[in-house]
Amino acid sequence: MNLTRAFMLERIYANDTQYDGRFITGVLSTGIYCLPSCRARPPKAQNVKFFPGPNEAEAEGLRPCLRCRPDDFYAGYDPDQALIETLVKEIDANPERFSDMEAMSRRAGFGATKLHHLFQCHFHVTPAQYLAKARIASACRLLQSGQVAASEVGFQVGFQSLSAFYRQFGRITGLSPAAYRDLNTELVVKLPAPYPVKRVIGYLNRLEDSSVTFETVAETSFGHVPMRLNYSEQHVAVKFLHDVPERKIMYAVHDELIRWLGLRQTTEWFEKQVASKVPVMEKQVKAARGLVVPQTRTLFEAFLWVIVGQQINLPFAFRLMRRLRDELGSQVAGVKLLPSAQQMAEVEPGELLGWQFSRRKAEYLVGVARWFVARDLSLNNICHLSSLRLEQELLAIRGLGPWSVNYVLMRGMERLNAYPIGDSGLHAALKRVSPERWNDVGWRQSHMNQFAPYRALATMHYWNGLKEDA
Ligand SMILES: [Zn+2]
Repeated sequence: MNLTRAFMLERIYANDTQYDGRFITGVLSTGIYCLPSCRARPPKAQNVKFFPGPNEAEAEGLRPCLRCRPDDFYAGYDPDQALIETLVKEIDANPERFSDMEAMSRRAGFGATKLHHLFQCHFHVTPAQYLAKARIASACRLLQSGQVAASEVGFQVGFQSLSAFYRQFGRITGLSPAAYRDLNTELVVKLPAPYPVKRVIGYLNRLEDSSVTFETVAETSFGHVPMRLNYSEQHVAVKFLHDVPERKIMYAVHDELIRWLGLRQTTEWFEKQVASKVPVMEKQVKAARGLVVPQTRTLFEAFLWVIVGQQINLPFAFRLMRRLRDELGSQVAGVKLLPSAQQMAEVEPGELLGWQFSRRKAEYLVGVARWFVARDLSLNNICHLSSLRLEQELLAIRGLGPWSVNYVLMRGMERLNAYPIGDSGLHAALKRVSPERWNDVGWRQSHMNQFAPYRALATMHYWNGLKEDA
């Protein structure tokens, strides 16, 4: 336990779930031990003794709290979590079986309020938003099969009206159902309006100077697809650097593109239902309507950014990232790529020391890459996992703390209630929101909690506000 007593006391008084699993709070006056997030009556500081884990607490004769169940937490069992993970798998496989929220409630065996809470907590969306995305994904699969007429697809996946289907399909995919089915020689995705395209492309193209085009590579199950993206206020157009790929590859490229651009994110809901209730955020939103959380090119790149970026300033992080790219990454059709997890895993940490990496950072980078490869981590095999489960798994990895884990969840895994706790940019923005209170961790947390389940979008808007004024 490297945390100080003062820090741990602060965390338990803030009921901080981020530290569940990191230490145990023993309350000597009652003989009970708790998770840091326990919401039972807060103990007096003089009665609190901290332990690294439940075994040490039990060795002192303490019993697990019946409210926060540290014993269940350490046993890794949460019946609600298991249930919601099963439910989302079923929804993804057969969204048409869930005509509405009530059908989801019936299947799960509990009421709408609890269902809502569990979706927000484990998947960072409302049940209705999850269902809508699942229906569009299912519609895409049907259209790809070519066996159902475009006009029939909407009903087949559970939409009640054709116009709702066309509207949602267009919003998420940037194409009409027919245009999607017939993807042929060109791929032009229509952006929602408004959409701050320059800001988003700036994130996708972070290591280069932003211009109206940039070259990148989609990694699909069929291999690398190098391409140039041209964009305007209304569209992003793909020009393939090799031959135009077969249609099944076009579908895979399109899927990557809309992920990078965050088109599945329900920004309207955030802006209208959440941000509008908090005047300072409403002001931020006005400056960049439609802002999304741009996703990293590959999942592994999110890990690279956080480990390289830990405890150094951004210009230095960029220099180190370019170094990794130039020394270790591949080149595809002249486009230089950051190293893959596989490439990074084959490096010996000592090799990085000559490039201004500290020994510790070099060890973390290689260690995380090796874990990533051994775990066979991919967006496909984590999409049905609860964000809480992922967070817990990632926090256990050497080199990843709460800031890094939440950044990965937000920018690599599209879990939009995650935000980089302790981020210096976010702190700078919050300092302007409240010069008196920003330094109080409890205030920061409750301020950000107003934006649940979209704290990541709120963070993007705060970061954007700093850039606008720079
Ligand atoms: Zn408790």
